Amino acid sequence: MMKKPDFSAQRELATRAKVTPNGVAVGSVTANGVASGSVTPNGVASASVTPNGVATDAPCTRCGGREYLVTRGEELAEAVVCECRATCAKCKGARYVIAREGVYDVAVPCDCAALHRRVRAFNDARIPAGYADKRLTPSGPNDLHGFSDRKSESLKRAKAAVHRYRISVDASQAQGLLLIGGFGVGKTHLVCGLVSYLTLERGIGCRFVDYHELMARIRATFDRKDETENEAAIIEPLVQVPVLVIDDLGKGQGSNWELTILDQIITRRYNARRIILATTNYRPESEGGGESDKRRGLESLEERIGGRLVSRLQASCEFMVLDVDDYRKTGPKAAR
Ligand SMILES: [Zn+2]
Ligand SMILES: [Zn+2]
Repeated sequence: MMKKPDFSAQRELATRAKVTPNGVAVGSVTANGVASGSVTPNGVASASVTPNGVATDAPCTRCGGREYLVTRGEELAEAVVCECRATCAKCKGARYVIAREGVYDVAVPCDCAALHRRVRAFNDARIPAGYADKRLTPSGPNDLHGFSDRKSESLKRAKAAVHRYRISVDASQAQGLLLIGGFGVGKTHLVCGLVSYLTLERGIGCRFVDYHELMARIRATFDRKDETENEAAIIEPLVQVPVLVIDDLGKGQGSNWELTILDQIITRRYNARRIILATTNYRPESEGGGESDKRRGLESLEERIGGRLVSRLQASCEFMVLDVDDYRKTGPKAAR
C-alpha cells in the first residue's frame, strides 16, 4: 500500500489543530507533529502528577472531590475552580490535549475545560449570595444541602418533587416548573439548588432574575433611554439563556407595558422550547387561586400578571403547589 505523503498529513494536522472546539487557538504544533503544550518547559511530561509532584488519588479535602468551591460573594454566590484543579496536570492550563485520531494528532478539549465552563455557568446564573450553599445532591431528596434544619412535611414533599424534577432533567425530559406557595416555604432555596445542580453538575446555562428587579430594570430603560442598557439588551439574554429562573413572579404591580415585555420574554422562550423555572406567592386560578385565597387577602396569579401570561406558563411549566404551613412561624430562621 502506498504511504500517505508526509506533507499532507502535516497540513491536515495543522488545520485541525489550529482551533480547539472551545475556540481557543492552538498553533503550537511543531513540524514533526509533536504538540509543545503536552510537555513542561523543562521537557518532562507530567500528566499523572500534580504540580507539587504528588499523585492525585486521594479526594481533595477542600472540595471533597467536587473540584469547585462555592462562596458567598458580596451580592452574588460565586464559584471557583478548586486549587486541586486550578493548575491542570494534564494540559498545564491549555484546556486542550493532543490525542491520536487514526493517523493524525488532533487537539481535543481537556477534561478541565468542562469544569471551567461549569463554574462559569454558575457565576453567569447570578444566584443571590444568600443562597450560595443551596445544592441538590445526587443521593436523594432528603439530602439537599442547606435544608437539613427544616422538618416540615410540606417541605419534604417539595424536596421530593424537586428531586423528581432533577431526574427528569437528567433524562432530558424536563419542562418548566412553577413553584407556588406562601412566604417561608423555601421556594427560592429549592430553585437555587436546582440552578446550582444544572450549572455546576450539568454545565447548562441558567440565569436567575428577581421579578421585581426585572420590572424595575425594564422601567429604567424606558425612563433613561441610554445606549448601554436598552430594552433589547435586557430581553435578549433572558430569551436566549437555556434556563431562565424568575423568582417571586407577580411581586409588586407591573404596568401593562412592563407585563407586555415579560410576555414577550415568556412567549419567545415558549416558542423556542426553552425552560422557565419560576416561583410565586400567588396561586393560579387552576390551583385554587382567586376566590378561596381572597378571603386571606391574596389575589390570584392571573390578577397579578394577567391571564394570557398564566396560560403561557401553564403550557410550558409543571405547576407545583407547595401548600405549606408558614415556615417563618415555626422554623428557626426566616426564609422564603
Ligand atoms: Zn479540591
Ligand atoms: Zn486540563
